[in-house]
This record gives sequence, structure tokens and C-alpha cells, in this order.
Amino acid sequence: MSEKKRRLFGTNGIRGKLNVDMTADLALHIGLALGTYFEGGPIALGTDARMGGPMLKQAVASGLTATGCAVIDVGLAPTPAVEFLVKHYACRGGVVITASHNPPEFNGIKVIDGDGVEFPPEKEIEVEEIFFKQSFKLAPWQRVDTVSQRTDWLDDYLRNLKSHLKVDLIKQKKFKVLVDPANSVGSLVTPRLLQELGCKVRTVNGHIDGNFPGRAPEPTSETLRETAEVCKSTKTDLGVAHDGDADRSIFIDEKGEVILGDQSLAIIAKGFLQRNPGAAVVTPISSSSIVGEVVGNCGGKLVLTPVGSIHISRKMMQIKAKLGGEENGGVFYGPHQPVRDGAMSAALILEIMAETGKSLSQLVAELPKYYMHKDKIHYPTHLKEKLLHRLPEISQGTRVETLDGVKIWHEDGGWALIRPSGTEPIYRIFTEGKSPSAAQALAEKYKRRLMGIIQEEESR
Ligand code: MG
Repeated sequence: MSEKKRRLFGTNGIRGKLNVDMTADLALHIGLALGTYFEGGPIALGTDARMGGPMLKQAVASGLTATGCAVIDVGLAPTPAVEFLVKHYACRGGVVITASHNPPEFNGIKVIDGDGVEFPPEKEIEVEEIFFKQSFKLAPWQRVDTVSQRTDWLDDYLRNLKSHLKVDLIKQKKFKVLVDPANSVGSLVTPRLLQELGCKVRTVNGHIDGNFPGRAPEPTSETLRETAEVCKSTKTDLGVAHDGDADRSIFIDEKGEVILGDQSLAIIAKGFLQRNPGAAVVTPISSSSIVGEVVGNCGGKLVLTPVGSIHISRKMMQIKAKLGGEENGGVFYGPHQPVRDGAMSAALILEIMAETGKSLSQLVAELPKYYMHKDKIHYPTHLKEKLLHRLPEISQGTRVETLDGVKIWHEDGGWALIRPSGTEPIYRIFTEGKSPSAAQALAEKYKRRLMGIIQEEESR
């Protein structure tokens, strides 16, 4: 499989610790490889708020212009905005300097294809080949290109976002919203969008600071504890928390409860299916049954993919689906663009709150209840392929899906998903059940069975 051959690109671009693995030198060579691959620009180039953003951006731009690609520098911007601008400015591709939700010391390079969607693994391999062979095609001196600044894109982007929303309906409600962009680029878009939707907007961690002084860039119930307190104490209708590049949103209800990404996806899917009867909703195999059950109950069609945002985007484009989503708070709204967009998902939640007249906690209360348990098991590296091959035999369920690892459904609605990590010699065991103890019991059961196979293989 193509995934195994990649040496630079991971699940979401190239990532590393700044000035350790992620250096200006590496960024220059990536720029040269990308420019050689794209064979001409323009290439849209943006950064999130991380330290080293300007340094890496200039290095990538040097490589791109040296190979004859014009660069459109869009400045500080969320990943979804750069994805939008690749199409809006008719670019051959785009690059975002970001490490998304990773800790502050990380930075990275994410590549966008000419259709505004993440670069697919097979193209990443082509770029890696150019990179490792250093087969860069420097442009003749007359064709070395230039960098132009375009930082006036916000109005165009907001106009596009709003064209898919019932703006007047949302405006009437005058929602009180708290935005927590984690001191990064979400602060440039989401507060403005929500103000234009008639909301009374306040921010926490709203100023740009690459040290991430407010909280870690990954929005979780732990990192959002203080933000949730502020939501509760200020009687806020909705809290919106982004990750470092603002392609994801985790929501907080009016009681200060942090809502799971699966729950907010199910709420968005329900509203969407009422407007689009029988439509498809694309989600990875790891998503909660909350999503599957809601989609089924609303007469929609659940389409499963392997884990990873690229799989959702590509599947949506392939089957012309308009909605996709992940448990991490990534929502893909096709009519806007088939990629995750944190600002768009915040607006979709507000639209549903306006349409139904219900608070977020009421919308959550209507959802089916499932509880997830996450566990892992280490294995000897040499057994990786063997274990993958033998996984289906540990199933004791009613239905098995081998789209990505093994997912086993049980009659009581519970399931277990067992997949190898892409980066470490561990198997991740995700289970879900109707109660926390049922989910935990299922995880322990499959952990024991997996352990049994490991011991069996070791003693051969
Ligand atoms: Mg992200």
C-alpha cells in the first residue's frame, strides 16, 4: 500500500520539532521538490500562528520560486481558508505551514492539491522521489518567479461561507458565542463570521501567539476546562474551540459541557438529513454508533471510510456526498468545500440551534447514548503483518469490517475497532458500548485475545 512507502509525509503532511527535524533547510528542499512537481504556479502559501512560520514559509517560497512557480502569500490563515483560496485564485496547489493540533514546539508543511483538497498519498510519494533524488528542475534565470502578497481574502471567504447559510434566521436569534481559537489563526475568521451572523461574540485565547500561552492546540475536554468554565459563568449559548489551524471545532454547551465530536457531527447530520432526505453522510470506521444510528433513523445513508481526513474528502467527491465528519471535530460541508472547516461547522451548529429553537444541551440529550473506551497494546515489531493477517479470527461479533484494521460489531450495539498505529508498534483498541463498563469489558476481552495471538506467534 502506498502509505507504507512514504518517508517524509505522515497522515497530515510533514511534521517535526522546529529547528530539530523541521528546519529551514528541509523546507527549502520541500519547496524545490514541490515546485519541480507542480511545474509552475501559482501556489497559495499560508501559515498558522506557530513559531517558525515566517522562516519556513520563506524557505518554501524560495524553493517554489527557484523552480519557476509564482507564489501567492496569503499570510496568516486557517488551513480551510488556504484550501478555499487555492481554488479561488485558480492556483496549481497550495502549502500551509502548520502542525495543526500538535504541541507548540512542532511545525509542519501541509500540501494542497489544485482542487483545494489535501494532497493524496500517491502524489506525496512522487514529491518525495524528487526530494530524495534531489532531481530539482531549477528555472532558467529569466523564469525565476516572484512572491506576491494577497491578504485581502477574508471578505471573499466569508461571503462564500455565508452563501450556504440561512443568515437571517441565525441573525434573529442573537446568540451569545464564546470563541477559543487557541491563540492561533481561527481568531482571524470565526469571530468575524459569527459577528456577521448577528452573534454577540467574545473570545478567550484570542490573540495570535505561537507559544500557545492559553492552552494546548488540541481541543479536548481536558484542555478546554477553563474555556468551558467561562462559557458556563457568562451564560453563553455556544462555545467554539478550534485546533491550531482551525479546521476543527469542538463545542461547549450552555451548561459548560464539552461536547464530543461524534455528538456534534450527529447533530449536524440530523439537521442536514432533514433538508436533504436520503443523502449520504461520510465518516471513518472509527466513528461512534451515535452517528450511524442518527443517520439511519433520519433515513440517510452512512458511508464508511478508513481513518484520515483525506479518505473522507476523496470519498465525498467520488460519490458526490455533501456531508462528512470525524470524531475529532472535523466537519466537511461539501457545498462550501469537501474539507474540514472549523468556522463552517460552528455556523452549521448555530443554524440548527436557530432552526429548532433548541439549546445545544437539548440537541445532545436527543441523541442515542454510547460510551467509548480507548486502549492499546504493544506488539513486537516483526509481528506487524502477521497480526494484521490474523486479526479477523479474534472476532466474536456478528459483523466484521476490514476497511481499516478490524471492526467487529456485537449484537448489543457495541463494537470494537482494532488497528495498528501508523507511527508506533502498538495496536489501538477502540470499543463502544451502551455503558462505560460494557465498553471497557469489550476492550479487555479483545486485548486478551490479541495478547493470546501475540504469545502464540512468539512461541512458534
Ligand atoms: Mg487541524
